[in-house]
Amino acid sequence: MVTIVQSEDPVLREIAKEVPLSQIGKPKLKKIIADMVVALNGESDGVAIAAPQIGVSLRIFVVSGKIFDEDFIRGQGSIEGDLYKKARHKDLVFINPIIKKLSKDKKLLSEGCLSVRPTYGKVRRATRATVEAYDENGKKFTKDGVGLLAHIFQHETDHLDGVLFIDKARDLHDAPPEEEFKK
Ligand code: ZN
Repeated sequence: MVTIVQSEDPVLREIAKEVPLSQIGKPKLKKIIADMVVALNGESDGVAIAAPQIGVSLRIFVVSGKIFDEDFIRGQGSIEGDLYKKARHKDLVFINPIIKKLSKDKKLLSEGCLSVRPTYGKVRRATRATVEAYDENGKKFTKDGVGLLAHIFQHETDHLDGVLFIDKARDLHDAPPEEEFKK
């Protein structure tokens, strides 16, 4: 059982450490990533998770493959059930991510966080973001995000710098868990 820490936990306020590249692919790091995937997939409304959210102060985040699934994009159907039976998109692992580019264009989007339940608020973030990172095999890659994915990139890299969305959000309110998606 992997526990997702909540906002009062000091680990969420630490500046997470870079992963030594020599550790990528080693059992210890594989276990951390596997734990993150288990924790994320255990939350039907979760779309991404950062390592500090499972109490590990390392610069890693994982984005759920489900955000690339057509049913999710269209906002139709349940994320659970039938969709899980279909071949899902792979969860994406970002190790030592760096935001290389942010659009000047910004948008206010509703956000929640698996570590700040059950609070939601609106955060103004760039609508496009480019991240450079290493994958779980140690391969460097670049990924462009638009819309939700761009917001996720910014929310998750904030986690690695000890920042929570509630530091930046407006219209903070509590909402039932099924209402929106959490990161
Ligand atoms: Zn979060």
